Amino acid sequence: MADTIRFDDKVVVVTGAGNGLGRTYALQLAQRGAKVVVNDLGGSTDGKGDDRSAASRVVEEIRAAGGEATANFDSVATQAGGANIIKTALDAYGRVDAVIANAGILRDRSFSKLSQEELDIILDVHLRGTMFTVQPAFNWMRENGGGNIVMTASPSGLFGAFGQANYCAAKLGIVGMMRVMAIEGAKAGIKVNALAPTAATRLTATAGMSGEATEPKTPEEDPMSTGRVSPLVLALAHQSCPASGEIFNAGCGWISRAVVAVNEGVLLDDFSPEGVAAQWDAIRDPSRLTVPVDATDYWRMIQAKTGATG
Ligand code: NAD
Repeated sequence: MADTIRFDDKVVVVTGAGNGLGRTYALQLAQRGAKVVVNDLGGSTDGKGDDRSAASRVVEEIRAAGGEATANFDSVATQAGGANIIKTALDAYGRVDAVIANAGILRDRSFSKLSQEELDIILDVHLRGTMFTVQPAFNWMRENGGGNIVMTASPSGLFGAFGQANYCAAKLGIVGMMRVMAIEGAKAGIKVNALAPTAATRLTATAGMSGEATEPKTPEEDPMSTGRVSPLVLALAHQSCPASGEIFNAGCGWISRAVVAVNEGVLLDDFSPEGVAAQWDAIRDPSRLTVPVDATDYWRMIQAKTGATG
């Protein structure tokens, strides 16, 4: 297929772009003409240490292939770091058209043993880190004609996974933040969506799935290739993306949308717990779902069902 999704003259920031998914996004964006800010702190999968070679290597790869890229080594997990990542784009290229907030780590622990430190570091990198990086870009985009933001959620966050209460809380928190940013950014032409990826990387290796090959494989060679996720991410980061406020899954080439939906439910006429207990099956029935656009739309649904006027 012809390369019609181009990023010529566009500036894209990718956090955590030194490895795994972020690296693939950065390389492919640059191949399609983007000037890329390659951010990576270069730490371990559990967030320890730092190493500038991760981001530097990807910048070198992009330049060797004739593309344009600038490295940034800040941690997304501080407000100053996030601000500096976006400043790197503005200083180097004068604009920021898209941000892919992708940096991430894991600190898995069963809920009963989860420590405050293990909760804090995951919230810092994923939830606060996303806000710290994306907020300065969002504010720049508001004044400069809009842009595209891709936030990274996770199937674990959407659907739950043993041992990942901290990570799931952060990832679903990102989805909530994304919904509000899509609403607040709409008038300014800012599109914000969330991605729940599945691909073999050093992170999945720590979670007991297959890990990244030493030499990353092509999407044709390996179903778990990051190259089977990146097409969706580039489409979301491009100005032609029709969606905002939505959650997309991408794994092994299966692209789908995840929704937060409301079922038909029941109208209580017996306002007692027994009245609820008598109708559990209908209350829980997941068939016939409606997807509210936002909380106001949900309130309209309540009004339509019940006749309440508020
Ligand atoms: P990865 O470890 O290969 O890449 C993550 C990168 O983020 C690393 O290079 C790391 O150095 C960087 N990073 C970590 N903390 C940082 C910080 N504070 N500041 C800047 N950079 C930092 O892992 P990946 O699988 O490519 O993960 C990318 C994103 O996708 C993460 O948000 C992860 O939670 C999410 N995710 C991945 C999968 C999967 O199947 N691989 C599944 C669900 C979600």
